[in-house]
Amino acid sequence: MAGCGSAAKSESTSGDKPTTAEEISQRPIIVQGPMPIEAEEFAGRLENVKEETSGNFVFYIGTLEDYPVIVTKTGKGMENAAAATAIAIEKYNPIAIINQGTSGGHDPDLNVFDIVLGERTINIGALKTGQREKNEGIAPTEWIPMDLMASEGSAGEDPNAEKARYYEGDKDLLAAANAVKDTYTKGKIVEGTIGSADFWNNELDRINWFHTNFGTSVEEMEGAAVAQIAEAYDVPFLGIRVLSNNKVNGGEYNPNTAAANQEYVYEVVKQYISTLPNEK
Ligand code: SAH
Repeated sequence: MAGCGSAAKSESTSGDKPTTAEEISQRPIIVQGPMPIEAEEFAGRLENVKEETSGNFVFYIGTLEDYPVIVTKTGKGMENAAAATAIAIEKYNPIAIINQGTSGGHDPDLNVFDIVLGERTINIGALKTGQREKNEGIAPTEWIPMDLMASEGSAGEDPNAEKARYYEGDKDLLAAANAVKDTYTKGKIVEGTIGSADFWNNELDRINWFHTNFGTSVEEMEGAAVAQIAEAYDVPFLGIRVLSNNKVNGGEYNPNTAAANQEYVYEVVKQYISTLPNEK
């Protein structure tokens, strides 16, 4: 680039990526929410906000206590979530990604407004059916998990792919989330398993089947897609999901849970920033 002079010890000439030592120590934290009610509350808390869009995705680029934070409105579902994550990683080189929003309960002990920290996240749409011939019907409870990341070969033929793949929540993000648990007063906060798929389950037997066989605490439609892409790029990831509904114990859908979750996640991000090595 012409006219750079010697102001920055730049090792790279690539476009938007941070190049100076100071910029690299300030890699942004990405906070994702699928729907407007799941992203705009947090975006409204940022300072110095600049909005960028890419496809359907909106990136609110700002700061939180002088540290760069980018809130992304991803849209709903696995494909949107995965694409918004890959774009964010390529464009903004984040230090960590938090995917947050609402979810439906699979655990009878969790109530609307309780929050699950994703110790593990799993794609509960990645399944393989049994062998059945014409007129033998369908038997969803016989379906088995399928790990699309087990190998580069055929997932349908590979017995090693017949297992559930859990993406671990990042330990440092989990520690930050646990450290500020007490700031949340609208429900309890537990560590658990987040299940994701482009699916809204209202069949109680099916919900219980996931809960028993995959250990799911809640279901939603984005987390596992984000976890998979974050792992591919080795970026720390955590899912944080509030229950907006819980069919298992009669918990009615409440959209106000979305804002409550963002208020808590704001505290988590603040705490995480305070633990980063380059923060004064
Ligand atoms: N009731 C809402 C539906 C939202 S669509 C409405 O009518 O506007 C689903 C979105 O909410 C997804 O982004 C998903 O992550 C989340 N979600 C909340 N509860 C869910 C559930 N029980 N099953 C699947 N996704 C759920």
